[in-house]
Amino acid sequence: MKKNLSANAMKEAKELFPGGVNSPVRAFQSVGGEPVVMDSASGPFLKDLDGNIYIDYIGSWGPMIAGHNHPSVVKKIEQQLKKGISFGTPAQPENHLAKEIMSRMPYIEKIRMVNSGTEAVMSAIRLARAATGRELIVKFDGGYHGHSDSVLVEAGSGISTLGLPDSPGVPRNLAEKSISVAYNDNEAIQQVFEEKREEIACVVVEPIAGNMGCIPASTDFLKHLRLLTTKYSALLIFDEVMTGFRVGTNGAQGLYNIQPDLTVLGKIIGGGLPVGAFGGKRHLMREVAPDGPVYQAGTLSGNPLAMTAGLATLELLTGETYSEIWKQTQKLASGFEEIAESHSIKVSVTKVCGMFSIFFTKSTPRNFLDVKASDIGRFNRFFHSMLNQGIYFGPSAYEAAFVSASHNEETTKKTLQAAETAFSELSQT
Ligand SMILES: *Cc1c(COP(=O)(O)O)cnc(C)c1O
Repeated sequence: MKKNLSANAMKEAKELFPGGVNSPVRAFQSVGGEPVVMDSASGPFLKDLDGNIYIDYIGSWGPMIAGHNHPSVVKKIEQQLKKGISFGTPAQPENHLAKEIMSRMPYIEKIRMVNSGTEAVMSAIRLARAATGRELIVKFDGGYHGHSDSVLVEAGSGISTLGLPDSPGVPRNLAEKSISVAYNDNEAIQQVFEEKREEIACVVVEPIAGNMGCIPASTDFLKHLRLLTTKYSALLIFDEVMTGFRVGTNGAQGLYNIQPDLTVLGKIIGGGLPVGAFGGKRHLMREVAPDGPVYQAGTLSGNPLAMTAGLATLELLTGETYSEIWKQTQKLASGFEEIAESHSIKVSVTKVCGMFSIFFTKSTPRNFLDVKASDIGRFNRFFHSMLNQGIYFGPSAYEAAFVSASHNEETTKKTLQAAETAFSELSQT
């Protein structure tokens, strides 16, 4: 595989950006080697500067669920582009996207559009603290909620990949306001509430963790969170930046049928353009400026191009689309397991609709501790073998893989053929 142009571009990028990237998860720090520089994308494929084509399981880390450059998304962006790029005034695309989101997530009674998931979580936490008059927040080990100060404690994704200490640069007295406990562990969270009681403003949780690999919560765990937060009058915040409209028409909250007080969205609702949103119960959202005193603002918030791309994407996501995505996800997952088994390699493949992870472990991981116990070295060798065969996974054992509506029998078949080679290589080392 020729990689000259890509290598040159990365060399230049390393002079320009820390690590040569504008988001750490794109670097190959954990898997080794050099990132591939992409030139274009279409459907399930990425094409690099040297003309190599890859089946893409990153999907821009989630947003490209319809497949890259879906014609109807492109067309609607073009139509909006002709009308204006940004107004800084109210504009109709905001209403259209908000109504679509709220029809799918009825627990969102009012919403605020922002520019990233990070910003949305940060604002939702500020709102929770203001609404409860309390300061402590609780999150879960390996849960990633963007990179704002309060949530950079035991966070997954890039922080774990790089093995960074929790939160350099975060003031200690702020970090002390964040408690992180084990995911899927009813007793751990119970203990925190029994100890801190009415000091806790909110629990923020990925209802299906996606940033320590894909780790679904047990229904029992999420129900327990709902009960505890209600009992102690704390707010339950579902961070559905990743799961929102990936795992099904109504997000994870629909799948589990649990009502959070606030929901955070991002990724898919921007269709590949920068976006985030938070919303929930009307009486809480009434506290947000200018209705209420909780300040939150954004020059480009509700950007008409992002709103349009998001709506165009959501319109493609029908029940049928999800069952097709789920079908390919399941085929991939069971395919990986069977092939690994045939080479006497132990893997656990976790999966939900449109999302899966291959862990080199004997038993299915349920929390971050389990994930960290998986064989990272093996994952890295697997990753490189797949990449060399034109299959692009996230460059870290702690990231999920994403399946889009454009993945099909053909891409699944090719991916599993490559996996046959990869596992066979692994079994010989
Ligand atoms: C991606 C992600 C975020 C951060 O969103 P950005 O748009 O990258 O700031 C927050 N929470 C979860 C669960 C995410 O997956």
